[in-house]
Amino acid sequence: MKTRTSCPYCGTGCGVTVERTADGRYTVSGDKARPANRGRLCSKGIALAETLSEDRRLLYPEIAGQRVSWYQAIDHVSRVLQETIDEHGYDSVAFYVSGQLLTEDYYVINKLVKGWFGTANIDASSHMGMASSIVAHHRAWGSDVVPGCYQDLESADLVVMVGSNLARCHPVIHQRILAEKQRRPELFLVVIDPRCTATADQADLHLSIQSDGDSLLFNGLLAYLADHDKLDKAYIEHHVSGLGDTLQAIADMSLQQLAERLGIGQQQLETFYRRFANTPATVTLYAQGVNQSESGSDKVSAIINCHLATGRIGKPGMGPFSLSGQANSMGEREVGGLTTMLAAHMEFSDPRHRDRAQRFWDSPRIASDPDSCALGLFKAITDGRIKAVWILGANPVDSLPDADSIRTALQSCPHVIVSEVAESTDTLACATVRLPALPWGEKDGTVTNSERCISRQRALRRPHGEARADWWAVSQVACRMGFRSGFNYASAADIFREHARLSGSCHGTSRSFDISACASLSDEDYQNLAPFYWPWRDGPAPEQAVRFFANGHYFTPDRKARMIPVNAARPGNRDLTKHYPLRLNSGRTRDQWQTMTRTGYSARLSGYPAEPFLAMHPHDAMSHGIRDADIVTMRSPHGAVLLRALLSEQQRPGQVFSSMHWTDEFASQARINSLIGSSVDPSSCQPAYKSQAVSLQRLDAASHGYAMLRHKPDTSLFADIEYWAMTPVTGGWQIEFASLQDSRELDTNLAMRLTKSMQPCCIEPLSCLDHAIGMRRMAVFEQDRLQFLLFTSESPVPVSRSWSAAQFEALWNERSTRWRLLAGRPGMDQSDTGTDACS
Ligand code: SF4
Repeated sequence: MKTRTSCPYCGTGCGVTVERTADGRYTVSGDKARPANRGRLCSKGIALAETLSEDRRLLYPEIAGQRVSWYQAIDHVSRVLQETIDEHGYDSVAFYVSGQLLTEDYYVINKLVKGWFGTANIDASSHMGMASSIVAHHRAWGSDVVPGCYQDLESADLVVMVGSNLARCHPVIHQRILAEKQRRPELFLVVIDPRCTATADQADLHLSIQSDGDSLLFNGLLAYLADHDKLDKAYIEHHVSGLGDTLQAIADMSLQQLAERLGIGQQQLETFYRRFANTPATVTLYAQGVNQSESGSDKVSAIINCHLATGRIGKPGMGPFSLSGQANSMGEREVGGLTTMLAAHMEFSDPRHRDRAQRFWDSPRIASDPDSCALGLFKAITDGRIKAVWILGANPVDSLPDADSIRTALQSCPHVIVSEVAESTDTLACATVRLPALPWGEKDGTVTNSERCISRQRALRRPHGEARADWWAVSQVACRMGFRSGFNYASAADIFREHARLSGSCHGTSRSFDISACASLSDEDYQNLAPFYWPWRDGPAPEQAVRFFANGHYFTPDRKARMIPVNAARPGNRDLTKHYPLRLNSGRTRDQWQTMTRTGYSARLSGYPAEPFLAMHPHDAMSHGIRDADIVTMRSPHGAVLLRALLSEQQRPGQVFSSMHWTDEFASQARINSLIGSSVDPSSCQPAYKSQAVSLQRLDAASHGYAMLRHKPDTSLFADIEYWAMTPVTGGWQIEFASLQDSRELDTNLAMRLTKSMQPCCIEPLSCLDHAIGMRRMAVFEQDRLQFLLFTSESPVPVSRSWSAAQFEALWNERSTRWRLLAGRPGMDQSDTGTDACS
């Protein structure tokens, strides 16, 4: 049976076709009819079937670690919320959700919080990725709308990618651009990023500007366009205000001065400016590298200013284009699932909107003001003002800045309700109530991608265990609290129809989001709903994306776009000190997703890279006495992590890069966000994830180890070992170790603990000490099956990882052949398919 659904990871919104074979397995392929990907998938999308395992799932509700029925769980949660509200008021409860939820889930949660609790105590992980773009959209055109669509990338003659490693973070969009470049080599690609990324590698021009130099660069571009008579005066006259003030705010600088401040060559800078000035069909894509900054909103405004001043917006191949990070960050914004929004793109600041939402919901109250963002929300938990928090689909203990303080906040909170798919996450460890949620493949609803395309995410199979939809759990709690009139939903389709009705309830010119054509869909229509772009008010679904603003009609009172004067932040060495002399940039890698709760269990996705790494320029490595593959302690004023050094000429000297994926589930101490401070953009409250001042120190490890195990071990076995990192491989799990213990001590500890964790009656160990290189080797069997291999040494362990992993498939009934395993590599009569003799 075939099911057409949507990929749950990034904001590209790829369509996926899943087929269930006769033996119950699933195969995944790209949906050729989906406009976003036309059959393409990236490595994560291709490996989706590997994340459908029913192991490691949270399957039953639990209160204080004890399994309970859903009836008991709903009863408990509703009582806890009600008692907290009765004693401390509505502001004492909060919700934190993520861009992984479906629109129907968000809608119900947002309605409960804003309409029934009357607060804005809800925020989402999308705030961490997109808030600066939302602010800049609002102040430029009065509405949170992305004006263009993916087709523009293929119609453009110039694509500028700013703060976006598209090749790794939105791989299918990058593939589309590269395919067009191959067809039309004159398509010019510019990448603006301090790092030389995989995206920069394939660009015609890479501007490796100083961190946070974007506003200066785009302010300079606007001044250049004005000086060279490249502004679209007719468009500005009719549709734009604020040009004079914006130009006046730009510091007077020569190109040479500008290039020096940005840390790039003047010729490169001029090439970019000239190319932009002379190419009408220009799209500027931007993502987290722009948004996640203390000046993120201004950076986006500086980009938008250049497009408004040239009238390059809303026409084929033209426009500023904000890419959303998660599969449904946009859906979250549409229902108002952030603390700064009301619902359906309605505003707190407009009393007519508040009145409209309250009357539509027939709710007892309505939130009147935005509340603090996620960081403020967790601060309120620390201060004891919030006493009950419900977290759905998010892992804030790893994903929020100053992550250790988030963990401390949750540990001090009387009631922490967590709805989660996985049986174990760093956030779930803080929960007082655990509720089993539906994963991709079992959940059913809608998502919206970066280009405003709404599509269905469909269930492939029945829910496992007692897992339930988030909208169902929240509605049940709301009904038990006495709010049945507002939350008596029978299905996701019911919720979607109501969301569509609300979107059309204040027709007119003041809002962009409107999908009222879906208000009367039947259940069958909803089940078969084809991807469509909003707005869709009536008639058949638009055949292609509607672009906004080619002819003005902005959502501001005078219907004109507003250019925003931007005071360019000074790029360079801000915040660096003698104690913290380097700047940390963090981001995604190609094959992992967020905090690895799904992709971290796929062997195919876990080899690249297999350990938490720190990329640094060889000059920085040399000045810190660090060699390639050393273990490095990276510190900030907020915490410390241990990572494997990766020397790379592609890093800008003075800046280091690490991935944000690793958690305590997979490594000893690699939660990157524990280093990040809580500075935010003052307009958007979006944290500055990408510019933390840090220091480095080599770990003088006295011993190293490598183990391959059939089953994932309990990480408490390694509690006193400084560095470990584990990843799945076909047939088992591999773990790398480095320790201050001497190698004999490390070996004894590991051998004893790993052996003890097995059934002692059945195991047969085999070990030897290789005096020549001081390496200890051990293999342990249970009957005919290899259970684990362990190698320890004073220096990094030179064994073949891939060969070792392959031995778990074999039957080892011939005892005389078992000693071969201790070599840790194939004999002369076999070939080694792996390249990883040593990580
Ligand atoms: Fe999924 Fe994004 Fe990859 Fe598409 S590009 S398959 S949406 S992760």
